Amino acid sequence: MTTTLPSRPVRGPVTLQGRLTSELAKLHAAGLHISPRVLEAPQRARTRILGHEVVNLASNNYLGFADHPFVKERAAQYLHAWGAGAGAVRTIAGTLSIHEDLETQLAAFKHTGSALVLQSGFTTNQGVLGTLLQEGDLVVSDELNHASIIDGLRLAKATKKVFRHKDMADLRRVLSENPTEGLILVVTDGVFSMDGDIAPLGEIVGIAREYGAVTYVDDAHGSGVLGEQGRGTVHHFGLQDAGDVLQIGTLSKAWGVVGGYAAGPTELRDLLINRARPFLFSTGHPPAVVGALSAAIELVQQDPSFMERLWANTRFFKAELNRLGFDTFGSETPITPVIFGEAETAFEASRRLLSLGVFAVGLGFPTVPKGLARIRNIVTAEHTQEDLEIALSAYQMVGREMGTIA
Ligand code: PMP
Repeated sequence: MTTTLPSRPVRGPVTLQGRLTSELAKLHAAGLHISPRVLEAPQRARTRILGHEVVNLASNNYLGFADHPFVKERAAQYLHAWGAGAGAVRTIAGTLSIHEDLETQLAAFKHTGSALVLQSGFTTNQGVLGTLLQEGDLVVSDELNHASIIDGLRLAKATKKVFRHKDMADLRRVLSENPTEGLILVVTDGVFSMDGDIAPLGEIVGIAREYGAVTYVDDAHGSGVLGEQGRGTVHHFGLQDAGDVLQIGTLSKAWGVVGGYAAGPTELRDLLINRARPFLFSTGHPPAVVGALSAAIELVQQDPSFMERLWANTRFFKAELNRLGFDTFGSETPITPVIFGEAETAFEASRRLLSLGVFAVGLGFPTVPKGLARIRNIVTAEHTQEDLEIALSAYQMVGREMGTIA
């Protein structure tokens, strides 16, 4: 006897095309879909977009090193002397002496016992947080910390708590409510990437110490920008010799190239080499990158005029924007937000600025809170007075047209 099964629509697995189309549709529906602007000329204060020369206020190239002759020259020298690639992960056969020289240079610059260079700032946060934190540990993180810290913490088995942005009473509350006998890490950006404000590191370290905690500073936007010779936020607060402060950061912003670093006690480097998964399982940097970085770190120490120009430009641009009536949201660094309110307003302002020859990117929710959509401008040492004046008159025109300023 045969049994006839009831006929049902057969639903196979989701197809690749189905997944791609439905996910893209969700992004479009939420207004979150991004199509990056393409630069048709090198990363400089003036570049080219859609065939037109523009003043570039969108990069993290704080010191103008991304296309600097001294930096490129060293990259070329290392390329010719050492080849195009490292050939293996660092722990197998990919550590060249130039990698270790760069790490020695970085440790001296940061005033730490050691430094390790990883593939990017993003993977450095993943590698260090994933390595240091264990079950039974406590990690307390500022609510505005970077996505790579958030993702790094996802890898950690520790208890995770968030404190309100730069709110020292809240930091103290979280530490006192979560006693532990494990390692306690207080994690903060040195400079916050959306608002351009500086972490109150002196107070953070003071409170952390009361609870026996170590402070972990992601200085992606402070290195090359703050502190004597651009040594970073930790130096800006005179904490470089503290044994309980870790300096993490990127080599892709002020240093103009790519990579991340972790600087701290000698044993930190040793443990990361042995345990940090992005370091263990991903190939080391190509020689040209190492050469460019060694030149960049040298250049900022040799020639103080880079930082002087960066800060003179920052002060001028911010003061003029404020004078025109724009809200720069209390920024204290070259990261200069201009608040427009609704995301669509910020995106429209960014489009209008581009049509006037100024490239500056609009950011909305969820990158920044609802109602605080903005254009994030980053001033660099490479901008001339003329560049900044062009940008300011474009801002004045767009701000008036859109009713953001009177
Ligand atoms: N941390 C912070 C605070 C950042 O702003 C960034 C860059 N967006 C990173 C880490 C990641 O650095 P990288 O681009 O070198 O991966």
